[in-house]
Amino acid sequence: MSKTTQLVVIGAGPGGYAAAFLAADLGIEATIIDTEPNPGGVCLYRGCIPSKALLHVAKLLSESKEAKNWGIEFSEPKINLNKLRQWKNDVVEKMTGGVGQLAKLRKINYIQGRATFLNSTALTIQKESGPAEELKFQYCVLATGSRPISLPDLPISENILNSTGALELKDIPKTFLVVGGGYIGLELGTVYTELGSQVTVVEMTASLLPGVDRDLVQVLAKNVEKKFSSVLLNTKVVQMKEAKSGIEVTFESAGKQTRREFEKVLVAIGRKPNTTGLGLENTKVELDPKGFIKVNLQRQTKEPHIYAIGDVAGEPMLAHKASHEGRVAAEAIAGHKVAFEPKAIPAVVFTDPEIAWCGLTEAQAQKENKNVKVAKFPWGASGRATTLDRSEGVTKLILDPETERVLGVGIAGVGAGELIAEGVLAVEMAASATDLKLSIHPHPTLSETMMESAEVFFGQSTHFYRPKKS
Ligand code: NAD
Repeated sequence: MSKTTQLVVIGAGPGGYAAAFLAADLGIEATIIDTEPNPGGVCLYRGCIPSKALLHVAKLLSESKEAKNWGIEFSEPKINLNKLRQWKNDVVEKMTGGVGQLAKLRKINYIQGRATFLNSTALTIQKESGPAEELKFQYCVLATGSRPISLPDLPISENILNSTGALELKDIPKTFLVVGGGYIGLELGTVYTELGSQVTVVEMTASLLPGVDRDLVQVLAKNVEKKFSSVLLNTKVVQMKEAKSGIEVTFESAGKQTRREFEKVLVAIGRKPNTTGLGLENTKVELDPKGFIKVNLQRQTKEPHIYAIGDVAGEPMLAHKASHEGRVAAEAIAGHKVAFEPKAIPAVVFTDPEIAWCGLTEAQAQKENKNVKVAKFPWGASGRATTLDRSEGVTKLILDPETERVLGVGIAGVGAGELIAEGVLAVEMAASATDLKLSIHPHPTLSETMMESAEVFFGQSTHFYRPKKS
């Protein structure tokens, strides 16, 4: 006999568990189905969390070398890879175990297994062992996430890794090729560089992080060029072959081919939504041309009682966007009048330095022919940045010249990922440059660069003399 549940959430990443948790808090009886023993998804098991643990270590290694400039010299660090890996795994276990506890406290039924739609109101669940079980549901939230894209005809292997393999940290290769100069390539490239690999990045477009404002990328690119062994732009990987001591890679740039050997290769060329093997063909759920599930503002699919959130429901593929969509879906199911209509979804690249932005970008404004004013504060004029010996950063506001309203914020510099939160609040609350200028920011902090950017707009920045043109 099949069981029934009021709400079933398929996929327990930051989107799925946020949806189930809020639904339970709103009095809805909820079931979560995921293949892992605890909630967490890619973010906690194989993405954001383990990569940030390793980036924390990378920062420490980098600063221990920089300290020479400040009169402090450390001897070469000894890396105990087993202990480092264990610590990273402990972080993951602590986080996923914690979220598992939160699910129990909310009396959510957590099922470890794989769900497939039988029809629009019933699933089969295949656990690791035993016969498949049937579950009938009133509502469903699809939160199945995404997976890495592979290079055509070049499968993942012992020496050709995707982000999951790279995060396992089996060894520290002497030479490490990163294919793709996006979020993952640059973050994991940073980790392996600091651990001692000679890292080469190959990016097929003309710049790292295509689409991101050039002045922000420039700040990072300078550091990447110093630290990485090489950055190959406008270059494609056309072939990879197992060789004596790793992988022989054939690059193509401006019609010319070159070959080089690397011990290991990381492929980080983007991700694609997980929509196959779910039995979606047994429902009326529809996909868009890019393969994402089509949803409306409440995140309802073509089946009004089936919702989709997170990476599977469209760009940007970011954990915090998934969590918010999950909460919107839970509220919609509870009958609240809600919609997913953010003005600012922050994006952070956790490199050294970090890059973060939210709301309207300068590139987007140019593309859409929008009349904006950009007010930029260079961190060379920030006391806090100078004390950190990190004055290469920049903070900028994208403003409406008429209303002074903050439409977007971009930051490149250490801690940009934390600083951008103020930008999100400013954009969402429709703050003006005057609001930012009049809000007293603590001194000496990097947050003052937000206030001083607003002062730049009026030609009145205390620490950056740039009078307003009349
Ligand atoms: P990405 O889209 O950020 O970058 C992929 C890069 O690979 C692009 O610059 C692209 O031009 C390049 N590329 C594509 N094909 C190539 C080829 N054949 N040869 C050379 N270069 C090629 O993708 P990603 O880095 O794989 O990350 C995937 C997703 O994961 C991102 O969209 C992001 O949303 C998410 N993510 C976010 C964070 C974060 O929030 N900090 C971190 C990691 C991943």
